[in-house]
Amino acid sequence: MLTTIYGHPRPLDWLCLAPHPDDAEIGAGGTLIKLARAGKAVGVLELSRGEMGTQGTPEERVAECAEAARIMGLSWRGQLGLPDGNLADTPEGAQALAGALRTVQPRVLVVPHHLDRHPDHFGTYQLAKRAIHLAALKKAEVAGEPWRVQRVLLYQGNADIRANVLVDIGDVMNPWEAAIHAHRSQFAGGYVSETVTPEIIERRKGRLTYWGTLLRVKYAEPFEAEDPLLLDPASL
Ligand SMILES: [Zn+2]
Repeated sequence: MLTTIYGHPRPLDWLCLAPHPDDAEIGAGGTLIKLARAGKAVGVLELSRGEMGTQGTPEERVAECAEAARIMGLSWRGQLGLPDGNLADTPEGAQALAGALRTVQPRVLVVPHHLDRHPDHFGTYQLAKRAIHLAALKKAEVAGEPWRVQRVLLYQGNADIRANVLVDIGDVMNPWEAAIHAHRSQFAGGYVSETVTPEIIERRKGRLTYWGTLLRVKYAEPFEAEDPLLLDPASL
C-alpha cells in the first residue's frame, strides 16, 4: 500500500525508486538535491520499509527518511510496503508500483541498475520495467489514469556501470553528506556490509571522484540512460 512519509503526493518532474530507505541518497542524492534547488518537483519512493535490515526498525527509518527528505528539498517521499528481501517482478508488486506511478506522474524515473549485486536492487529494476509498462496501459487493472514515464535513468549501487550521463554535484556535497548521515541507524553503528558502514561517505566519494575525473570536475554522479539522449549540438 502506498503511504506518504513526507510532503504530499503531487505530479513530479523526477522520481527515484529505492529498494530500501537510503538507497536513493547514496545512489542519486546529489542529483536529486540539485534538481530540487532548481525548482523541480522531486520525489523518492521506497519499495520496502527496510524491515530486514540488520540495524534500525522500520519506524526509526521512516523518521530518518523524512529528515533526509527535508534536507534534500524533496516535494514528496513515500513507501510502497513491498517485502524487503523479496523485491521482484511480481503481478501484485507491478500493480502496486504502477498505481504509485499514476498517482505521482513522474516524467523521469530513476531506478537501480540491473547489474547491481543486491537481489532487491535488480529486482526493483525488473519490477519497475513492468510497472512503467502497466501504468501506461489503458486496460490495465490499475487505479488511476494511464501515465507514461518519459525517461528512465539507472543509478549506481553495488556494481560497476558504464555511465553515459554524469552530473556535477560538487556544489551540493554538504547537503548530500547530511542526507546520508540522517540515516543514523545505518551509518552510525558498526560495519554490516559494503554499504551499511560508517565509512559510507568516504567509499562513495571515491566513486564520485573517479567519475568526476572523466569530466575534470571534483565529484560527478553517474547514471546510465537506456535510450539515447537527444542532444542540441549548439549546447556543446
Ligand atoms: Zn538497498
